[in-house]
Amino acid sequence: MYDLVIVGSGPSGLTAAIYATRAGFKVLVVAGVKWGGQLMLTTLVENYPGFENGVQGQDLMFTMRKQAEKFGAEIVEADFPETDFTTFPEGGPFNFKLGEREIETKSILVATGADAKTIGVEGEKRLSGRGVSYCATCDGAFFRNKNVIVVGGGDSAMEDATFITRFATHVTLIHRREEFKASKIMLDKAKADPKISFLLNSEITEVIGENKVEKVKIKNNKTSEVTEMPIDGVFVAIGHNPNSNVFKGVEVKDGGYVKEFGHSETNIKGIFVSGDVADDHYRQAITAAGYGCQAALDIQRFLENKS
Ligand code: NAP
Repeated sequence: MYDLVIVGSGPSGLTAAIYATRAGFKVLVVAGVKWGGQLMLTTLVENYPGFENGVQGQDLMFTMRKQAEKFGAEIVEADFPETDFTTFPEGGPFNFKLGEREIETKSILVATGADAKTIGVEGEKRLSGRGVSYCATCDGAFFRNKNVIVVGGGDSAMEDATFITRFATHVTLIHRREEFKASKIMLDKAKADPKISFLLNSEITEVIGENKVEKVKIKNNKTSEVTEMPIDGVFVAIGHNPNSNVFKGVEVKDGGYVKEFGHSETNIKGIFVSGDVADDHYRQAITAAGYGCQAALDIQRFLENKS
């Protein structure tokens, strides 16, 4: 019987694992077949406190993993199976199958994160972290005096375009339609910025570059004309998909983000949540880590009250 099963192994899940194991609990981390979360896809991280010269995303995750393992967290690189949590007794225990193993636990932390939506064009994946970015807050500063594109027509795209003008020489906002999902106030702010120009009814069809982004192919959706634009960076800001769908019975809000009730609690007693799977607002490695810490402390109280 585990005290806690943590599903997810990004900054949130691993921080929770460090806190829960140090508190003396028996912890299993179901890390996912691809463990480590979004930071495994990033290169230099300059805004995680404690690293004066920045840290490579993968190095940060390997260090967090080793730290959790040092305190006794058991980490299994497997995907959590689709599970209907409405069938368990109130407050647990919960059980599920992990390959051949039958796992039983007093509590579960859902820390499965969210994936940025991709535009799904040739070159995008290969050049991710090499000029293609999904996080303006994280990577905007790398584009000082450069020309970049922001893709999207929602509030995120407006916010990102406006933010990146602090560094970039020019931002071209590319949107596939003429109408915007963005709120008027954020759209007006972007429109009023002399460093931002708008390319509407247009979509990127290919990202081109050998080791870093050099140019993009752009298709005009009205005329079907394809042109090339030399560019240093492409920020994709078209939304996120929280990884919440295998937890049947756990309530979600708009966009599929897990709904929080009280302190890190979900609607199901004994099942907790932390990180980007619940956070549609901040989405930073450090906020996810902090959220994981909070959840571990909340779970500690839950477990202590049970025994
Ligand atoms: P969103 O509102 O869903 O907008 C996504 C945008 O990306 C849409 O304009 C959509 O185009 C476009 N898009 C989607 N898939 C695409 C694709 N494959 N290729 C090209 N374009 C694509 O997402 P969001 O902007 O991330 O915002 C999410 C939520 O967070 C919203 O509720 C928003 O208000 C909120 N938010 C608030 C703030 C703030 O208030 N400071 C900041 C950021 C986000 P179509 O319009 O054609 O569908």
